[in-house]
Amino acid sequence: MKYEVVMGLETHAELDTESKLFCGCSTKFGSEPNTQTCPVCLGLPGVLPVMNKKAFEHSLKAALSLSCEISEFTNFDRKSYYYPDLPKNYQTSQNYFNIGNNGYVDIVVKGKEKRIDIHNVHLEEEAGKLVHPETSGANYSLVDFNRAGVPLLEIVTQPDMRSVEEVESYMQTLRNILLYIGVSDCKMQEGSLRFEASISLREEGSNVLGNRVEIKNLNSMKAVLKVIAYEISRQSSLLDKGEDVLMETRLWDDVDSVSRRMRSKEEAHDYRYFPEPDLVPVWIDQEWIDETRTTIPELPVSKRQRFVNEYTISDYDAGILTDDKLLADYFEECVGLSQDSPKELSNWIINDVLRELNERKTNVQDFIVSPKMLVDLVKIKPAIGSSIAKDVFVEMINTGKTAPSIVKEKSLTQMGDVSELNDIVAKVIDENPKAAEDYGKGKKSALTFLIGQTMKVTKGKANPKILTEIFKEKLSAGSK
Ligand code: ZN
Ligand code: MN
Repeated sequence: MKYEVVMGLETHAELDTESKLFCGCSTKFGSEPNTQTCPVCLGLPGVLPVMNKKAFEHSLKAALSLSCEISEFTNFDRKSYYYPDLPKNYQTSQNYFNIGNNGYVDIVVKGKEKRIDIHNVHLEEEAGKLVHPETSGANYSLVDFNRAGVPLLEIVTQPDMRSVEEVESYMQTLRNILLYIGVSDCKMQEGSLRFEASISLREEGSNVLGNRVEIKNLNSMKAVLKVIAYEISRQSSLLDKGEDVLMETRLWDDVDSVSRRMRSKEEAHDYRYFPEPDLVPVWIDQEWIDETRTTIPELPVSKRQRFVNEYTISDYDAGILTDDKLLADYFEECVGLSQDSPKELSNWIINDVLRELNERKTNVQDFIVSPKMLVDLVKIKPAIGSSIAKDVFVEMINTGKTAPSIVKEKSLTQMGDVSELNDIVAKVIDENPKAAEDYGKGKKSALTFLIGQTMKVTKGKANPKILTEIFKEKLSAGSK
């Protein structure tokens, strides 16, 4: 039987603020356990939360960037559940009045655009973190409350995704938007960005949604993609056998690459949501919305479109350049310095700069070759030829020197002087009569060999185009 897969994603992003959502404790990652806590984030009796304005502004900015309708009235609610890393036994979250509703994100899959609807965007607090000792036989767990109370943005999609590729593109696009607007560092290795996937199957052509399974706390995009593949095969084999897929929450085991049942699916009423009495509601007026809108930079989708129009580079290349805001800035700085070669600059960045950044595991911000240095290399390239330009580029990275100074130091300027090259070519032909004869008999590779020999003599400085011309002329004259 053929099935259609229906997927939605919930994303949790830790917001980039100095202090926590309801207290002054630091949000710094990686400190000694339980050194960034106070009575408020430990949930001790009698304490009162005070809202972090920055966290709220970040959330509003994100909701606007995801094209949400902004609620005029927002409030917080208590979401009750028990877990050892949740000291208050409830999470302060939003349920009835979210900051944003009914937004969307446009993604591109295989060159086709698709709109993924956002159900809502809301603000809530992080829980602490359980640490399970790795010593074998340890029968206890430890809890670190440094993370408790860190502001967390939750972004919930509609079940609009139909393939692994769409999910992947959505995750990347969303992450890119959050990075562009600067509300989260999105470091997945530090847990700043986490996903939960809901996955169900239905017979192709059916309008009825199948029972869905939710997978909690996925810490990497890779894990999300793996769990989807796993669930599709698990659920379709159940359906093939005529069995039901249970509505449940499952956990992904990355070590064994399987999902395991955690609990039956909870419903909203299980959480006993009720309005948080210790926090005042927040009203968002039009002025605040307008003000926030002015702080949103050009987002990846429009930047990509503008790059295509303004610099006449391909949509694919524009996609790579705008995938990272810093890389897009680097490109535009280059183009600002030399308007006449955007295509060539884009090629250098996509092929050479990106390769070096990957190899050196660094980012373009810390890259030793500045936009000015790259532009200078591109400008001097006609005089040295492409292959030497590549060597100069590597030399620039190794030494931090500019292209003109490397070219001068090593006297790399290409020989373009035809009379000088004429003599060298004549000599090479004399020394390689067999190859010259072969070429006369129509063996094309003989020419490549002869040019190679000439390159050796000139230490790669001869202009290959001019060389080819001279050889062709001389050899055809000789064979007459
Ligand atoms: Zn605190
Ligand atoms: Mn949540």
